[in-house]
Amino acid sequence: MHFSVLTIFPVLFQAFGAVGIIGRAVKQGHISIQAFNIRDFAADKHHVTDDRPYGGGSGMVMKAEPLADAVRAAKGRCPQARTILMTPQGRPFCQKTARSLVSAAGLILICGRYEGIDERILEGYVDLELSVGDYVLSGGELAAMIVMDAVTRLIPGVLGNRDSAAGDSFAEQRLAHPQYTRPAVFEEQAVPDVLLSGDHQKIENWRFETSIIRTLLKRPDLLKNRRLEPREIRILKKWHSEIEAIIDAQHPSGADALSGARKTW
Ligand code: SAH
Repeated sequence: MHFSVLTIFPVLFQAFGAVGIIGRAVKQGHISIQAFNIRDFAADKHHVTDDRPYGGGSGMVMKAEPLADAVRAAKGRCPQARTILMTPQGRPFCQKTARSLVSAAGLILICGRYEGIDERILEGYVDLELSVGDYVLSGGELAAMIVMDAVTRLIPGVLGNRDSAAGDSFAEQRLAHPQYTRPAVFEEQAVPDVLLSGDHQKIENWRFETSIIRTLLKRPDLLKNRRLEPREIRILKKWHSEIEAIIDAQHPSGADALSGARKTW
């Protein structure tokens, strides 16, 4: 996968492309990263990339011509690449979007600054607008790194152990199970016994169950509106009946005594 990043701060991508999983993916040839400095495409002698907004108002807007030339240069390097504009107004980026981008021949990521870019770039130069969340950053560079990182992890062969991606949160619309490493006791908190048991089936069951329950507690939206596996339903029912038993034990006539009917909860 070839990533072309269009930015006025290419230096930000040097460390990003040199360390960790991304650095290794570059060295092993799974990905390449080329940062295009948008200033290099500004025609005037001061290399100006921004200008005052038409209609007045505060802040500056990134000029269309340098951006268009930069996209053309990046396309020259990788003609089949998809062009993505990083913007808080874009489609929310998620694991599913990351998966859909892995198969692209290349990605061109446009990083805005100031008040954003001239609207006319969207027509003809941008295939997809992506947002990394409902907040406003000072520039698209961090957002582009998020997309590049999430996509790179999914390229076959990038992660040493292929299972690492399969077990990640969101891989199956569930959060990952809790993780522990040595020491076995930290500040009086012991690692769950089952993880020390050496019983792989038990460990697998525990991981599956904790994964479901922490998804229920932290991100119930991931369990709603999707088809649950029979195994997931069994676990949810087990917890449901345990919770009911606790409540029923509170009163001789059970939870029905509370505000009349249990069914209306
Ligand atoms: N005035 C604009 C925000 C500009 S922020 C607006 O309200 O829509 C400057 C640049 O940072 C943007 O052009 C975009 O490239 C980047 N950026 C800011 N927040 C972002 C987000 N949540 N996701 C992706 N890119 C973002």
